[in-house]
Formats: sequence, C-alpha cells, structure tokens
Amino acid sequence: MRGVLGGPRVLLRRLREVMAEPVSAQERLDKIVVLIAANMVAEVCSAYVLRVDGTLELYATEGLNRQAVHLTVMRSDEGLVGLVAREARSINLSDAQSHPAFSYRPETGEEIYHSFLGVPILRAGNTLGVLVVQNRAHRTYSEEEEEALQTTAMVLAEMIASGELSALARPGAEPAARRALHLGGQAIADGIGLGHVVLHEPRVVVTNFIADDVQKELQRLETAIDALRADLDLLLERGDVADDGEHKEVLEAFRMFAYDRGWLHKLREAVVTGLTAEAAVERVQSDARARMLRQTDPYLRERLHDLDDLANRLMRQLTGKHHAPAREQLPDNAIIIARSMGPAALLDYDRSRLRGLVLEEGGPSSHVAIVARALGIAAAGQIDNATGLVDPGDAIIVDGSSGEVHVRPPPDIEAAYAEKVRFRARRQAQYRALREAPSVTKDAEPVSLMLNAGLLVDLPHLAESGAAGIGLFRTELQFMVAAAFPRTSEQLSLYRSVLQIAGELPVTFRTLDIGGDKVLPYMRAVEEENPALGWRAIRLGLDRPGLLRSQIRALLKAAEGRELRVMFPMVASIEEFDRAKAMVEHELTHLRRHGHSLPERVQVGAMVEVPALLYQLDELCARADFLSVGSNDLFQFLYAVDRSNRRVADRFDSLSGPVLRALKAIVDKGRACGKPVTLCGELASKPIGALALIGLGYRLLSLTPSSIGPVKAMLLDLDARKVQSLLGPMIESPVGSVAIRDRLEAFAAAEGLQL
Ligand code: PEP
Ligand code: MG
Repeated sequence: MRGVLGGPRVLLRRLREVMAEPVSAQERLDKIVVLIAANMVAEVCSAYVLRVDGTLELYATEGLNRQAVHLTVMRSDEGLVGLVAREARSINLSDAQSHPAFSYRPETGEEIYHSFLGVPILRAGNTLGVLVVQNRAHRTYSEEEEEALQTTAMVLAEMIASGELSALARPGAEPAARRALHLGGQAIADGIGLGHVVLHEPRVVVTNFIADDVQKELQRLETAIDALRADLDLLLERGDVADDGEHKEVLEAFRMFAYDRGWLHKLREAVVTGLTAEAAVERVQSDARARMLRQTDPYLRERLHDLDDLANRLMRQLTGKHHAPAREQLPDNAIIIARSMGPAALLDYDRSRLRGLVLEEGGPSSHVAIVARALGIAAAGQIDNATGLVDPGDAIIVDGSSGEVHVRPPPDIEAAYAEKVRFRARRQAQYRALREAPSVTKDAEPVSLMLNAGLLVDLPHLAESGAAGIGLFRTELQFMVAAAFPRTSEQLSLYRSVLQIAGELPVTFRTLDIGGDKVLPYMRAVEEENPALGWRAIRLGLDRPGLLRSQIRALLKAAEGRELRVMFPMVASIEEFDRAKAMVEHELTHLRRHGHSLPERVQVGAMVEVPALLYQLDELCARADFLSVGSNDLFQFLYAVDRSNRRVADRFDSLSGPVLRALKAIVDKGRACGKPVTLCGELASKPIGALALIGLGYRLLSLTPSSIGPVKAMLLDLDARKVQSLLGPMIESPVGSVAIRDRLEAFAAAEGLQL
C-alpha cells in the first residue's frame, strides 16, 4: 500500500471520528485535509467548493498558504481544479506544471509542487467541489490512492449538501449545492404547482459510509448482487413486463449489466477501500451519472440510464426498501419528480396532495401526461437530470404552461408565482360562477359545450364545469394506463360508471383509437415506418374484430335502458363505416337473442378526421347518425404535419383558409342532411378556435375540461351573427389575402371578448 499510510480504511475510520466531533464546520474541514494529507503522505491537501456563481473557492488546505483559504477563488474554466470540476473526473499527473490547463496562483505558493491528484466531489452525479492532493516530488498516485481520495470526497459531498458550510460563505457566494435553479423543459400539463419535492424513486440516503467490517460488507454486497440477478431472471422468465412497466429489452440489458465484470469490479473495489456496500453503490452510481450527464450520444446515454436503474435496484436489495413512498407519507403540496413514470403510478398518489409532476423524459403525448392533465396537475417534461438536482422536501415550482421549473426558488420568484396562482384561482372562481348560466351567445344562439374525457378521474369535471355532456370519451385511455389488456368486465364496469355519473347527460363513446402515437405498453408493437398512417384505430378494429366486438358488447350492456352513442375513429372509407356499424347491429342482435336488456336507442357516428371523408360526406351522412370532427388529426393530415413532431407541428396555422374551408364544408353538409356535427379536437378548446367555429356554424363543441370556463366566458359576450358575417367572406376570399387569425383577434378586441 505504497503512499497510503495505514491505507484507506484507516483514513475512513479517522474521518468518521472527525465527523462525529462537536467542532465548527471550518475546524472539521481543517482536520479532514490534515488527515488526508497525512494518510496519503502528501504535502498538500486542499478542498475547493463550487459556489453559486460557478467559481471554486478554497475552503481548507494543508500545505498551501493558509491565508489563501476563502480568498483563492478560481473560475471553473481555470486551472487543473477547474478542469476536474468541469469534466467531473479525476486528474492524476506527475508533472502538473507541464499540463496546458495548469495555472499558477502566487498567493498559494503552489509552484513547488509537481504532482497533482484532483477528484471531483460528486453527489448524484453533480459536482459540488474538488478535492486535491499534491506532492513536491514527481510522483504518480496509484489507482488505490485515487480510489481512496474519491471515497473521501463522498464524505465531503454529504457535508456540503447538508448545508453545514453555508455559514462559512459570504452572501452571494454560498456553496452551489443548494442554489436556486431555473430549469427549462417542455410543457406537458397546464397549471402552476407550488410545493415540495417528492422523489418518485426515493434515493436511498446513505448515512453510514464507513464499514466496520469490510468482509461483512463484501458479503452483503455479494448477497445483494445474487438477489438482484435472481430477481431479473424471474422477471424475464415470467415473460411479461415488470411491475414497474419495464420492457423485456430493458430487463435483458439489466441482466447483462448485472454480470458485467467492470461494474462488479468497481463495486467490490469501493467496498475494499472501506466503504459500506450502500456507499459503494452510491459511489459507482454517482460516477456513472456524472458520465451520463456529459454524454451526448443518445444510445450510450440510454445505456448509462440503464446502469443507473440497475444501481437503484441493487440499492433496494441492500436496504430492503422496495417501493415508492406510501401515500400516507406524501406531504401536502407534493411535486413528484421522476425520470419517467407510467400513468398508473401517478394515479397511485393521493390526488388531494398532488400539485405537480416533473419528468426527465416524457413529452406532452406520453401517457403519464394524459393522466396529469386529467388530474389537473401542472407538469413539465424533458428536464435534464431533474432527479439528481433536487433533494426530498426542497421547495419547487412547476410552471406547466411554459415547461419551466424553479428549484429552491428565491423569494421574489416564489412571490410572483404565488400571485399567479391567486390570479388563476380568481379566474377559476369567475368561471365557476358561469357554470349555471345557459350556454348561449349574446344573440341567443345556443352553443353546447361538452367535455372530452377518457378516465374516471375526468368525471368530476362534468359537474364542476357545468358541461352539457361528454362529447368525446376516449376509450383507449383505459387501455393505455393499464398494465395489461383490460378484460371485458373491466371495460363494462368503466362504461357503466361513466354513464352513471353522467346521469341524464349524453356521453359519446369512441371505440378504441390505438396505434399511431397511442401505443399500449403490453401489446407487441408492429414496426411501422409511418405509424400515424399505419395500422391503427378502426383499421386495427376491423382486422382484429374480436377486440372491437367485445368492446361494443361492453358498451351495449353498459347502456342498458338508455341511449348509447358510439363512434368510430379514423374512418377513411364508407365501407369501413358500414362494416363497423354492422358489428354494432350484430352485437345488438346477439344480446337480444340472449335476453339481455338493451339500450333504449343506439346512435352510431363517425369521426371525421381523414381528409378522404370530406369527399364522401353525402354517403356518410346517409348512414351515420352524427359526425364528430377530429380537428387534431384532420389538421395533421390536411397539412401533412406530424402532430407530435415539435419541428413541424406549429408550422401551419389551424385558423388558415384551407382548414376553415374544410371545417365549413363538414358543418354545412351536416346541417343540410339534418345530422348533428360536433367538433372535438383541440381547436374548440381555445377561445379563438371556438370563436372561429361558431362563426363557421358549429353549435356543438367538445373541449378539454379546463377550457369550458374560458370558452363559455367568451361566447356569452359574443354576437354569433357578427362573427359569422366576418368569417364568411374571409373564407371565400383568395387564400393568403387575409390573415384570418389576426382579423379574429382584432374582432375579439373590438367586441371586448376575452381570448
Ligand atoms: C382528433 O384527432 O382531433 C381527436 C379528437 O382525436 P385524438 O386527439 O384522440 O386523436
Ligand atoms: Mg384523432
């Protein structure tokens, strides 16, 4: 054990004693650097702490000029210390002065030291500072010494993260570990959430770093590794997805890593230096995280993510903590932070305490986002390393309309957001006051505002908003949030509950719209080049009639004694509609023959969202009882822009001539044939969209729950005839000659309409 006096274990044991001494933070730090220097036979040991301003301040030193403590401050792009911090990796040099990054600080008197070993002080992959040893001689520090210094750095990391050093800092130059962070991501569910961090996968807080008995710790580690492997084998053997929804390929990758010699070697080495098994896992995990954060190759990043997950699993084996925090432990105003999350997991939390959700992955069309919106909680996605940047209980704000997240926000930001929340609450109260008001325009045109829903958690919105019914019930959501195919009995029970809660109000069920961007985790995905144009919705339903048939049967049973309204998604041809409708009739006959009580009336409709249907409206109207326009897909297909591709989704205006002409053709045809036409896409959920739709002649709109209030407030002040006569000529005039959206905005401003 060359160089390390008594070895790393002795060092760690001494460190533990120092940590327990009742001394000031500065004295403790001073003692630590002396201990390290002595143990490693180094002339110098210095600890630098990363500050909120991004610089590195010398907090303690043995060997350098003591006067430099708290005075020497380096930029993070300066010197070898800066390099260690920036790259979050150790630097081990026998001739530091010949390194291009070497920079000389006269106040420290360091020019006489030739060899340099610097390690980052890491916690959850984040650099909190740098720990350095130096020697006069040209010496190469051994791997073992490097390992020992890294281990020591872990103890310092906890000390910094605990906030113990903050008292030593000048105002504005506090350690960065607890600094306020402003993170930018993607908006996935509207709203503002103020609250406190709850980690969905709680980090196991390692309190005991230093092993009493290395052999015992090694044994614990081996036992945990064996259990981890057995666990993975079992999951793979079962052949289905894991309890937390992991796919088979991910589990395969886990198993591969669980036998990876490099990974296992690192873990064992860390224990041999004197760490407890938990601390060893944390060490290795933190290193992997630091590499992950600097990795730009998406494939390698993904693999490092897998390693991170595997380390979590191993940690759970060691500590016996297997599950997310119990609901009872959820604080008020909880903001859940997760790397990614399944929809069912979010539903497991106590809704009354949830205020927001922050995900490292996950976009607006992810299933958990759909559930977050249904629950009405603010959510932001694509927040890099969110789980590593927060600690449980930290104050946090999620702005679900902009995708921004503020961690440990300064008082002015917190006050500004609190004001925003109050403002929103006042507006909500105003909308609530409109709940009972009849939904008619100023010139007495009734406009029916219905709700888009898909989960039971959506249903309370019906009474809260005063909606006229459910214009679109997306039945696929039940399938998307489930861990396995819902049985027919489960479908039946959901539909029954929905109809029961809706009471007298009409509900339009849409049959399964899966495929495209709506994937079921448990259904083998068919590789398709263009899934939006692929085997989805009614196409899948007709090709796999068993699935559609059992759904129709469940719907018919659920609606016994009342009206059933059912419609089919993505109909592109009359033949498809005929076949689907024939299935309804067939099931009706079947149920009748078996003596089941039937719905009082069955209304069968079609979604109009494939442009080809625009040229088959006469035929469709002759067969369908009602039409419902899916403006989201219709827009996507009219302009050939993928609705979930951010690069192109906003390239064209949904209030442009071509779109409005198409929408007008549909509503006009419906009126001419005496068939009701609803619009249930997102367009109706924006007051300006609803304004245009009313101008086109639409009187049945189905909206996301939070839009009912704003749209109703707008239409109560609206003169429908006026917008109709404004819009008519604009649609007739050559495309591009008028900016329709601008004109509508000007009209709204002149009329005092709130958009
Ligand atoms: C639509 O396409 O507009 C629609 C309402 O259906 P979905 O958004 O579920 O595809
Ligand atoms: Mg659609």
